[in-house]
Amino acid sequence: MDFSLNEEQLEWQMKARKFAEEEIKPISLARDQIANPADTIDWELIKKGSKIGFRTAVVSKEQGGHGIDYVTQALIMAELARGDSAMSKTFSQCWKWSHLIAAACTDEQRKRFLKPFLDDDTFVLGSGQTEANSGSDNRMPPVGDLKAGPRLRAELDGDFWVLNGEKQFIANGNIAKLFFLTVRTDFSVPFTDGTTSLLVPWDTPGFRRGKCYNKSGWRFYQNGEMIFENARVPVSNQIGETNMALHKGDGDSSGDMFGDLELAANALGICDSACEKAISLARNHSSEGELLKEQQLVRLKIGRMSMLTEALRSYVMRVAWEHDQKIHSTNAGLVMNLSTDTVQEVTELCMDIYDNVGGPMDRGVDKLVRDSFIWSHLAGDSVQRLKVAGRIIK
Ligand SMILES: Cc1cc2nc3c(=O)[nH]c(=O)nc-3n(C[C@H](O)[C@H](O)[C@H](O)COP(=O)(O)OP(=O)(O)OC[C@H]3O[C@@H](n4cnc5c(N)ncnc54)[C@H](O)[C@@H]3O)c2cc1C
Repeated sequence: MDFSLNEEQLEWQMKARKFAEEEIKPISLARDQIANPADTIDWELIKKGSKIGFRTAVVSKEQGGHGIDYVTQALIMAELARGDSAMSKTFSQCWKWSHLIAAACTDEQRKRFLKPFLDDDTFVLGSGQTEANSGSDNRMPPVGDLKAGPRLRAELDGDFWVLNGEKQFIANGNIAKLFFLTVRTDFSVPFTDGTTSLLVPWDTPGFRRGKCYNKSGWRFYQNGEMIFENARVPVSNQIGETNMALHKGDGDSSGDMFGDLELAANALGICDSACEKAISLARNHSSEGELLKEQQLVRLKIGRMSMLTEALRSYVMRVAWEHDQKIHSTNAGLVMNLSTDTVQEVTELCMDIYDNVGGPMDRGVDKLVRDSFIWSHLAGDSVQRLKVAGRIIK
């Protein structure tokens, strides 16, 4: 396995590093501390990043994007997240779903939705699955249970699906211009056999945005409620066959793999930032007349932080490489588990080294810890993800 980077990969890595240093870091803490969660978003930052290509990076060159490979995605994400992991996620949330427009939509749908997405620097995407009683189930559906799964109902009325119900905790829910939505189209069977996917523009009649969630971590990243009251979505916006949204063949969809890699690379960026902060403190801060770097316990902690971070980096790059080689393996899911454990331990160690100077919010150390705890409930919670890992046994 050769991990040396080609010229294009290096170029993207440098662009992301420069953007993180010059545009993200200077505003990160101030945005994090804005009290109203709906006000933390910074459209100027999104526009600037979009012009460089971060928003549309994964759309193929033939379709008007940049067609970057998975290794490049991991590199960009880690660099941007080193600046601010929530800001970088706002860009990569568009990767997940623009990737799906290319992979799962018809040519006609691509014409209608891809061009506006590519042309508008403020066009961000979202995807709605989670509901009040349907979170982890969406990722690892319980077999044959009629009560489980989403309740948002869609009924046919001529050329329209009529939607009633709510989604919650949807990323970009209060700012996205287009959503991938899973709706229940048959309640007489388990939801795995009765769910359909629709493309839902933000200005669909009968759809309105609800509250923006006030999260402890990832405050820049918007999470909102979606409310549907007789919302009318044209049947021509349906993706794939009716009731087949969750039929993914081998049960290990490339969409899921895609999400896990991007998130694991994001966690790596946080770890890098935590290591930098801890090393900088150890070099410059004294206790009992001695720099922290001379204290054995601090050296041990920083050694462990570096070891965990470098192990995660190797795993992330290996999974990215496997994706590029079209190798399907359990690593695609396991990397998310490792990234969760790693980012939480590394940021906690960083906070530990900072001790009472890490608590105040002006150093950004508490932010790294708060952001890292988002991983427990991302893309399925950590328990469900361990179940995925359990597939190795079969
Ligand atoms: C920042 C962020 C962004 C998100 N973005 C989106 C988005 O864009 N679109 C979207 O649809 N959703 C999104 N979500 C929601 C996310 O996917 C869910 O939070 C996740 O799937 C977990 O679901 P839940 O919160 O309902 O927890 P639940 O599934 O209700 O789980 C609650 C608790 O019960 C435990 N538990 C659940 N099942 C079991 C079991 N079988 N055995 C043992 N313990 C169990 C879990 O470990 C957890 O501790 C986002 C969440 C976050 C934090």
